[in-house]
Amino acid sequence: MASTDPYVKVLDIEQTLADLNQTMDQLRQERDDLEIALTTAVEHGDAIEAQLEMANRQLQKEVRERRAIEAQLRQLVATISQKSRDLEVVLQTITEHSDQMDLHWLDRYRESEDIARKDPLTGLANRRLLDEAMTQEWARARRQRGWLAMIMCDVDHFKSFNDLHGHQAGDVCLRRIADTFRQELHRQTDLIARYGGEEFVLLLPDTDEVGAQRVAESIQKAFERAALPHENSPFGRITLSIGAAAMIPDQDDEGALFAEVDRRLYLAKQQGRNLIVASA
Ligand code: GH3
Ligand code: MG
Ligand code: MG
Repeated sequence: MASTDPYVKVLDIEQTLADLNQTMDQLRQERDDLEIALTTAVEHGDAIEAQLEMANRQLQKEVRERRAIEAQLRQLVATISQKSRDLEVVLQTITEHSDQMDLHWLDRYRESEDIARKDPLTGLANRRLLDEAMTQEWARARRQRGWLAMIMCDVDHFKSFNDLHGHQAGDVCLRRIADTFRQELHRQTDLIARYGGEEFVLLLPDTDEVGAQRVAESIQKAFERAALPHENSPFGRITLSIGAAAMIPDQDDEGALFAEVDRRLYLAKQQGRNLIVASA
């Protein structure tokens, strides 16, 4: 309840005034703080805005640069794609041609390999191929402990054939002799080679001495049937002297078989020609 004492009343009013003044001071203080805060906010706002604007400009600049780079990259990709397509065409052309070239050279190589091992006059194997086959078959027979046979044939009195008919007719006759051999040998593994001028060698894998003799006899009969005329020969036709042998290779080298057939052929010549010597 309020006091009725005037003195107390004055005190109350003074107190109230003092409170009001304090409140006013507080309010003033708060207003000043707010003003400062506002000013700061405005100042900061300007700075932030300036920063934002700068960042924005920077971003736009980067976007422009990126677009330019992208455009350059697109151009580059297009150029590279075109170049790669061109290269593919070039590569394909090269590949196609190189396949053809490879085949061409392979054919030529095989051809030359063939030529190098073929006797041009008769088309039979030449001495080089015979030597290669001999080395190979000798090694195989040695590994398998099997037989390898060889038959060496020399045309009888052939010099006198040439003397009578001339060298060219002699060549034609040598071709007919080669054909007679060819018709007589049927086994794929058998090899007929023209060993020298009018000498022919047969290499017969998996064939023993009996087999070799049989083949030699069949060749002799084939020449009988063929009856290639040779007026200068005591036999009146082309005949052969034949040495045949077979071996199971052991310590000896392949020269042993060559030497043996050569020795037997010499014996056949010595004993009168148109003969087979097929045993020691
Ligand atoms: P032999 O019965 O003792 O074997 O008597 P031959 O006359 O057959 O033996 P020789 O070794 O004395 O003569 C072989 C002849 O073969 C010599 C050559 O006139 C002939 N000759 C060798 N090679 C060829 C060739 O390629 N073509 C021709 N036309 N003749 C050849
Ligand atoms: Mg001879
Ligand atoms: Mg001869």
